[in-house]
Amino acid sequence: MNNNKKFGFTTTILHSDRQKPIEHGSLHKPIHTAVAYGYRDARELAEVFQGKKPGYRYGRQGNPTVSALEEKITRMEDGLATLCFSTGMAAIGAVVQALLRAGDHVVSSSFLFGNTNSLWQTVNLQGMPVSFVDATDVANVEKVITPATRMVFVETIANPRTQIADLARIGELCRERGILYVVDNTMTSPYLFRPKHVGASLVLNALTKSIGGHGNALGGSLTDTGLFDWARYPNVAESYKRFAPVQWGMAQLRAKALRDFGGALGPEAAHHLAVGSETMALRIERESSSALALAKMLDADERVAAVYYPGLPLHPQHSLATELFRAYGGLFSFELKAGTDCFDYLNRLQLAIPASNLGDTRTLVIPVAHTIYHEMGPERRASMGIAESLIRVSVGIEDTDDLLNDFRQALDQ
Ligand SMILES: *Cc1c(COP(=O)(O)O)cnc(C)c1O
Repeated sequence: MNNNKKFGFTTTILHSDRQKPIEHGSLHKPIHTAVAYGYRDARELAEVFQGKKPGYRYGRQGNPTVSALEEKITRMEDGLATLCFSTGMAAIGAVVQALLRAGDHVVSSSFLFGNTNSLWQTVNLQGMPVSFVDATDVANVEKVITPATRMVFVETIANPRTQIADLARIGELCRERGILYVVDNTMTSPYLFRPKHVGASLVLNALTKSIGGHGNALGGSLTDTGLFDWARYPNVAESYKRFAPVQWGMAQLRAKALRDFGGALGPEAAHHLAVGSETMALRIERESSSALALAKMLDADERVAAVYYPGLPLHPQHSLATELFRAYGGLFSFELKAGTDCFDYLNRLQLAIPASNLGDTRTLVIPVAHTIYHEMGPERRASMGIAESLIRVSVGIEDTDDLLNDFRQALDQ
């Protein structure tokens, strides 16, 4: 495959391993389980440790199978470089551990994955105040920025209510102010959207979800888009400044987060995620078209009180989603009218499985307030627009008619 030629999304993923020689001509990057690596002699070992020669040192800081996956993700995101972590949360934690110092201020969207919301509470207690804002309007972000603001964190489509951040205008604001712009791309995935196009500095993906796609491996990644000027960032340690400034962020993340906190991705998981990613575009096309059909059907049903899906014309950010995303994705949520118990409804579904993952090949449903958002309590839930009866649906790749029939028969019963 010609390295310089531009291929389509799936072709690029399928053939990325072969950009470098693979052992025995294997068509997949093999699973390398070794934790340590031998060298020609002790001097070469020292040179690898000092970064004077390329090579692997120890499994916590890098692994050939994981590197092959990192290379794939870099291509998906059209980025500069990627680091993988054991989970999506470990990747978010890495940003905090490697790039923030006591007294730094963080601005975060208040429409967030529940565990990220919980992480920000901890970060706040550790001396880095976090301001939560309605990030669907850049004005709310701008209002809370102070000279200590180091980072703005948003999700593309927020789970479960599907609010879409004012992605491009926040990117513009961050660029002007020299603030790190971290975008969690999990809900869109690089197939539907590349945050680099709106000026993201770092792109986060929970590989567990759409990229791996089969609910059989955990993983997370951070991609440096190459857009952020690390020379403007005050928290880079002198020891990482021997590289060109574009590399400072990844160098510090690899050492201060991956090496020192140790949330490394295992090679077996990396293999599952890499193989899963080959069919990502096919899966997401099917999931998106089924989600649109389901959302429309439920929206038209008088027994349903509300449906939240960016593909519906009345969604507040419908036109933004149409402009930015290739499709509207496989996740939506809805509320039943008073009188129908959400547990009864869920128990009548025959195909959709009550479970907390998303981006799986199987359709998964969950009563949000009673499970993933239970810990945060009713007040914070209300501030995030989460009704007690809200049901989140992560649409899988089942045949669309089967899904429509399942959700309809559960209403009819
Ligand atoms: C699942 C998820 C995460 C965390 O990923 P894990 O691999 O489960 O740790 C982060 N952000 C979003 C938007 C998610 O959906």
